Amino acid sequence: MHGCDDGSCKNGLEVLMPKLGKRSKEKLKGVDSRLVLVLERVCKHFDITVIEGLRSQERQNELVDQGKSKTKFGKHVQGKAVDIAPYPIDWNARDDFHYLGGFVLGVASQMGVDIRWGGDWSSSSLKQEQRTTKDNNFDDLVHFEIKGK
Ligand SMILES: [Zn+2]
Repeated sequence: MHGCDDGSCKNGLEVLMPKLGKRSKEKLKGVDSRLVLVLERVCKHFDITVIEGLRSQERQNELVDQGKSKTKFGKHVQGKAVDIAPYPIDWNARDDFHYLGGFVLGVASQMGVDIRWGGDWSSSSLKQEQRTTKDNNFDDLVHFEIKGK
């Protein structure tokens, strides 16, 4: 059974052409269109749900105060980051998050979109001599952002 997000892909056409669910689409408002295009393509092969996209400065400040985020003007505030997870979400399935991470990076690379993943901040998994995520010292496995501007 294939479909993206919250069971909204139940009818025949959508099973053939999976797309992001309503709730996920809603959460992608204000997010960089390159990132949205990548997720729309990922969604054709991989059931995902969007946890958070654009973040208000107010909420970002709260997260910094709570120690959950370190940057005052992070990529979420700029609309250049999304948090996504395999759907349905199983927070203990670490491998699934890694599998999705590699998949998103692959799709993005094919589309010419330069993306950084929170499971591999240094992008060492993409460097031929390295090919590892073991150097990642702060895992944010749901996080994907546009590199640079
Ligand atoms: Zn994030």
